[in-house]
Amino acid sequence: MKKMKLICPLLLIFFLIQVVSADIQSPEQFLGFKVGTARKLADTHQIVEYFKLLGKASDRIAVKEVGKTTENNPFIVAVITSAQNHNKLETYQNYQQLLADPRKISDEQAEKIISDGKAVVMINCTIHSTEIGASQMSMRLAYDLATKNDRTTREILDNVVLLLVPMHNPDGIQMVVDWYRKNLGTKYEGSRMPWLYQKYVGHDNNRDWYMFTQIESQLTLKVHNAWHPQIIVDMHQTSSRAARIFVPPFIDPFEPNVDPILRQQVAMMGTFIASELTAEGKAGVIHSNRYDAWTPSRAYHHYHGGIRILTEVASARIATPITIEFEELANVAKKPSVKIPLPWKGGKWTLKDIVEYDYSAAKAVLTNAARLRENWLRNFYRIHKKAVTRTAPPYAFLIPQEQKDLSTAVKMMNILQTGDVEIHKADSSFTAGGKQYPVGTYIIYMAQPYGCFAKALLENQVYPEIREYPGAPLKTPYDVAAHTLPLLMGVETVQVDKPFKANAVKQTKIDRPKGKVAVVGNAFGYVWAHTSNDDIVALNRLMKKNYKVFWAAKTFKANQKAYPAGTMIVKQSEKLTDDLKAIAKELLVHFEGLNGRPGVEVYELKPLRLGLYKSWTASMDEGWTRWVLEQYEFPFKSIFDKDIRKGNLNKDLDVIIFPSISKEAIVKGVSQENIPQKYAGGIGREGTANIKKFIEKGGTLITLDSAAEFAIRHLNLAVQDSSRKLTRKEFFIPGSILKVLTDKNHPIAYGYEKETAIFFRNSPVFQAEGASSVINYPDSNSLLSGWVNGEKYLFNKSALVDAAFGKGKIILIGFPAQYRAQSHSTFRFLFNSIYYAAAELKNL
Ligand SMILES: [Zn+2]
Repeated sequence: MKKMKLICPLLLIFFLIQVVSADIQSPEQFLGFKVGTARKLADTHQIVEYFKLLGKASDRIAVKEVGKTTENNPFIVAVITSAQNHNKLETYQNYQQLLADPRKISDEQAEKIISDGKAVVMINCTIHSTEIGASQMSMRLAYDLATKNDRTTREILDNVVLLLVPMHNPDGIQMVVDWYRKNLGTKYEGSRMPWLYQKYVGHDNNRDWYMFTQIESQLTLKVHNAWHPQIIVDMHQTSSRAARIFVPPFIDPFEPNVDPILRQQVAMMGTFIASELTAEGKAGVIHSNRYDAWTPSRAYHHYHGGIRILTEVASARIATPITIEFEELANVAKKPSVKIPLPWKGGKWTLKDIVEYDYSAAKAVLTNAARLRENWLRNFYRIHKKAVTRTAPPYAFLIPQEQKDLSTAVKMMNILQTGDVEIHKADSSFTAGGKQYPVGTYIIYMAQPYGCFAKALLENQVYPEIREYPGAPLKTPYDVAAHTLPLLMGVETVQVDKPFKANAVKQTKIDRPKGKVAVVGNAFGYVWAHTSNDDIVALNRLMKKNYKVFWAAKTFKANQKAYPAGTMIVKQSEKLTDDLKAIAKELLVHFEGLNGRPGVEVYELKPLRLGLYKSWTASMDEGWTRWVLEQYEFPFKSIFDKDIRKGNLNKDLDVIIFPSISKEAIVKGVSQENIPQKYAGGIGREGTANIKKFIEKGGTLITLDSAAEFAIRHLNLAVQDSSRKLTRKEFFIPGSILKVLTDKNHPIAYGYEKETAIFFRNSPVFQAEGASSVINYPDSNSLLSGWVNGEKYLFNKSALVDAAFGKGKIILIGFPAQYRAQSHSTFRFLFNSIYYAAAELKNL
């Protein structure tokens, strides 16, 4: 009798679970094939649909649409934990917020939360859409967590809140799957798409974690900031010849603002995954290889109390199996070592293998989080406790209101606020570091939960010199080495090392101040400055309304004062004052009435007829350029290989921009071996001849960064790129911020100071004879932030060249002026070039 009593409820529970599980469709039932089946992929609509079904059928899964993506697909997150935990989700979320801000709780309260709270894990699948495995795996992982009841699953559900993002970029998954299905069974099965898998930035979507330019980054951040997970996993894929999976530890260097506790936890989680996979018999697990942890553009979470780990599984041909012989593997993947104790032997490699490795890695992460739940929470608290009680210098960064481009300074502060950084504003004047600062000065104190995020982005980077042994060659950075926002955005900031007192109020949202219109009676027109990006947007808006706009080519006097060269002038017209008032309401632009004809030589600006070259090589630089042009309201159209091959370009265009693409990619494009004929072949020889004709007849070609080589080689420009002759050992700058000197009298440099900063990334270095050099490198000390090797090769060389060619011009912008939409302070070199191209000198 006693025994029966015990058994019956157990049976009942078992029966109930069976009923619930039977109601939940497996991915196989839903899709009609097993996840990971060769040549079969679930697309975005199917993945979203399946997760919605799971959300309805399971009390362990809540599926939320966080927002819409760039191309209007649903961006979803699945919150997965036990049914009991789901009832207390808000409590757990609140716990996270409290542990993340130890100013709000005592150590005793923290201990109580640590014992009650749940470890929060975020798994971000397939940020790069061709690395498709994790997006497919996510369905199986969610299904298993919804239906299984083994001990490990229960441990995970009880101790962990999982935020599962099945697709970081749903638009891209749809594109990749469509392309794959379309070419299935043809020569092009598994081939690369001829366009970017995110509308603007393609593969660069994982370099957006401090600028937050793209919608998918913003949506992921929304999930992150609501929860502040302890563990974040980005699931990637890599070359088919690499080891089968990379997991951390990362290699040196770690960005110095990342807490040492996090660095140890990254290594601990990485080796835990490695040991679990190896124990399951999965060969080819490598750690401590290739990937470093320097740039915050990939690792927002390292500055927000969470570890950000990366897994990189070897790829197949999308969903098509491949065979890799042992000999074909990368050397590091072949020999047993501390990094890779069990190398893979080579053979067939399929989507199923990728899914299996991803699944095991995800399960390992969740198991670790569940079993070490308290450690994760306590360390999370400790990291933030250290952050809010920090006493080491700097004490604060100040951002004065006196700025050349205050609107961009506000944008920079908005970025920091998006990253949960607290910004104060002084109520009265104060003294800091021996200097007086006025009311309205912004203050960013370093002792705050995410002070390290602000510090990493506000200070100049000193990339360490790493050599394996004394006298060994320098270790070169894996990625870009600099991320100093004040230099990238042209914002004046002041670092204060010693504590000071100020009456200051925390700002919830810093708004861009409005502009002004100073009206004078019977004005000739209005003038405004040329020093901010808003000034250019104002110009675009007026040009669209067909107003006559000029740039003063010399200093001139009016209204009893002197205006510098570059000052923008708009001629009076019926509705002008109203239109200017409308602009000043939205943009920080000050228009001043001109009390008479300025009597100065000017550039008369022409309505833009601008073409941006879009190559079928799917150039990210093209995407970023397109994004920046759209954001700053430039009218333009994309032009393709066939347009350039057809010729007669002057009919519709005055200016053509070649984004940073190699000359081979421009001329030859992708071979027909690798892509359907429609997209193959580049602009070809006839296209090259047509570009030449276009310029000779008066058009302007603007080349960005590496595209300069096209003009130098194929148009026989009298400009040399002296970096071409240098080896990587002699000269290598993979992404740093450099000091340059501008020719302020040249229209392309209007509005700039003599000294300014540019981003440089494996860029050309010009020697220009018979052409104007608008920007030069100094004769010493060019490095401002990051790392350089062979700096001397830059000295006195040119970074931006304006060359006359026939009746037209070629402008070589020898650096990424629009670098990943981050280098706001150099956008205007591109913007000015576009208007200068067709402008005409006259007297006004
Ligand atoms: Zn990737």
